[in-house]
Amino acid sequence: MQTELLFKGLTYSTIGSLVVASVMVYIIGPRSDLKVAWTWFLMLALISLYRWAVYFFYTGLVPGSQVSKRWKLHFSIGAYAAALAWGSIMWLFYPVDYPAYQVLVILGLAGVAGGALAVLSYDSRLIIYYQAILLLFIESRLLWEGQAFSTELAVLSLLYFGFLMKGGYEIGKNYEELIKLRSDSEKHNLALLSTTEDIARIGYWKWDMKSPLIELSINLARMCGVNQKLIPMSTCLDMVHIDDRQRVKMAINSVVDTGDDATVEYRIKAANDDDWVIMNQIIKRIENSQYEHSILGAVQDISIIKSAEKKIFDMAYFDELTGLANRSHFHQHLDELIKQARRKKRKLAILYIDLDGFKEINDTLGHDKGDEYLQIIAGKLKALLRDIDFIARLGGDEFCIILDDIEEGIDASMVADRCMALSHEITELDAHEINPKMSIGIAVYPDDGTQANMLLKAADTAMYSAKQAGKQCYAFYDPEMTAESVSRLQLETDLQKALVNDEFELWYQPKISLQTGRMSGVEALIRWQHPVRGMVPPDQFIDAAERIGLINKIGEWVLATACEQHSQWKQKDIDLNMAINISSGHFSTKGFPEKVEQEITRCGLLPGDLEIEITESQTRNPDEHICICKQLQEKGVKVAIDDFGTGYSSLSVLKKLEIDTLKVDREFIRELPHEPAAALMVSTIVNMSLGLGYSVVAEGVETLDQAEFLYSLGCPLVQGYFFSKPVQAVEIENLVGKDFRCDLPVTEV
Ligand code: C2E
Ligand code: CA
Ligand code: CA
Repeated sequence: MQTELLFKGLTYSTIGSLVVASVMVYIIGPRSDLKVAWTWFLMLALISLYRWAVYFFYTGLVPGSQVSKRWKLHFSIGAYAAALAWGSIMWLFYPVDYPAYQVLVILGLAGVAGGALAVLSYDSRLIIYYQAILLLFIESRLLWEGQAFSTELAVLSLLYFGFLMKGGYEIGKNYEELIKLRSDSEKHNLALLSTTEDIARIGYWKWDMKSPLIELSINLARMCGVNQKLIPMSTCLDMVHIDDRQRVKMAINSVVDTGDDATVEYRIKAANDDDWVIMNQIIKRIENSQYEHSILGAVQDISIIKSAEKKIFDMAYFDELTGLANRSHFHQHLDELIKQARRKKRKLAILYIDLDGFKEINDTLGHDKGDEYLQIIAGKLKALLRDIDFIARLGGDEFCIILDDIEEGIDASMVADRCMALSHEITELDAHEINPKMSIGIAVYPDDGTQANMLLKAADTAMYSAKQAGKQCYAFYDPEMTAESVSRLQLETDLQKALVNDEFELWYQPKISLQTGRMSGVEALIRWQHPVRGMVPPDQFIDAAERIGLINKIGEWVLATACEQHSQWKQKDIDLNMAINISSGHFSTKGFPEKVEQEITRCGLLPGDLEIEITESQTRNPDEHICICKQLQEKGVKVAIDDFGTGYSSLSVLKKLEIDTLKVDREFIRELPHEPAAALMVSTIVNMSLGLGYSVVAEGVETLDQAEFLYSLGCPLVQGYFFSKPVQAVEIENLVGKDFRCDLPVTEV
């Protein structure tokens, strides 16, 4: 702007001075030496030309500090040359004998000096020197003349130029101050803009389309890690990620061609590290006052916004624990793949995976280890798949794999086989070696369902039947499975209501002492009086109760009801040992022994009246169970191992457990007394138990032969249909005092 104004001044002053010079030559020349005058004019014209050249040379450049300094120097040289040229009139063609013309020359030079004020006022020193040079020529020539008139003229000129110089100096000073003020405010505005840009992580660039260079704002240059503000367009594009470059070019070109705004998102290398910064750029075509077009790009670093978006996306679509897709992501993806499969008339399969034994891992090793196990399995499953396959964790220990674009449903079995094979790999978890096992249900689109939820249901049903078939296997969906799964669901729903509606009952099965023939105690066995289905045996709902997390509540109800029953019998002088069954999860819950103690106190029982039966499989984490058993025993409560012989307890663990009673599973009793292996096993178990100081109960005694055989082994207690089926509490009262030795099976239930 400042330069533009000065050069505009230069144009007018050059034209003006050449006009004045030609008039001077025309008027003064004939009074002195016309040839010299024209030569002088030529010299002045050349100097003007030089100044014009400077103007043209520099006008195309944006004033930077270096350029501006050079420009000023050349411009000053031109100005001094002009001053010397003008002053030289005094010596070259001064009209010696024409006083009136002499005054005219002086006035002309004074006019030139005055005119310089307008052009050179941007530099107060230059204007003083300019005028001083003129004055020097005037004074030297006039004084050298030594005549009265010329001396008077010299004095007049001195005064005259004195005013001009003083005025020039003042104007120059004001002008400089003005410029400084303006540049300070520009700097201030720029700094403000740059800080604002920095805070908002924005910047801009400008390209005037004629130049190969584009101008970057300070902050944009900083963001791109470049030092100059002016850089070639190609360098700029090189900074853009190669995959995004074409899009950026196209966006700029479209703005150049159409004049419509464009928005483009791209990545550039971060200034300080190797990361990519994501930029959002709005490109606009703008027009200046001369109707010239230039392109302006406003750029914003949106990396933070993008990473926040990604975080939100991850939270919404991925499972935090395993990093796999979550349930909602799974549903969306499955919907999408089904649509594609429908279009392409292709098949796809889903594999619904449920880990076997995960509950035990969680119960015995704790939830942290359970989580770790899930992470390991997630990693292993993912590693089995092709890139195009999709895996999600649906929740808990359930995973689902989608196999897209398969030829036949049977192709899914290859993947299922690979999953099954994971059981050969030992997974170490906190010094425990685990062979990951799982049950898998497979459903195929479109054979087993044409919609996502239908397919998922089918796969879930198939998975459940794989579980029923003994776990660690897979099953393809079969429509017959659905009826089964509906009734399973119904059972689970009904079970939720059973406790509230008081539909459970406890029945009691006598335990008989073979020595006395009398009932020494009872085992409390739960019954569910279903409002529609009638009596449901525990085998049909205990697993479901464990699955839906109702087992602890049921256990507490059993404990409370059995204790209340015992106390009622006590009041009637019936003294029987009461055994209750407690399931794994409930037994290992924190505070279980205290809960048992509370119930004993509440019902006024003696601790020795109560025996807790836990199944052998529950003793897999011996340390924890030993601890709970000990706590119970310290409170005087007895502990029995149920179904002994069906699990995997090693004899050494049995020794450590320090239980009170061992219940031999009815599988062994069933084959007595004729099956020699069973006979040997039972006699060994009975002898060993008695040797270790445990009491022994033989379960499932159904015949007199079995009872006699057990009697011959010295087995102290028996329980079974031969003596009594489980009966209601009132019937137990009738059996008290009965001698079972001389009796046949009692009331059928
Ligand atoms: P269990 O603890 O082994 O209980 C003995 C089961 O054997 C009872 O079946 C009983 O009726 C049956 N039984 C007794 N004598 C004979 C016999 O001579 N022959 C045959 N074939 N069976 C006989 P029930 O009552 O159907 O209970 C089945 C299982 O359900 C129980 O096995 C126990 O594991 C579980 N259970 C029963 N009540 C409860 C309870 O209150 N809580 C828990 N957690 N589980 C229970
Ligand atoms: Ca039992
Ligand atoms: Ca049993």
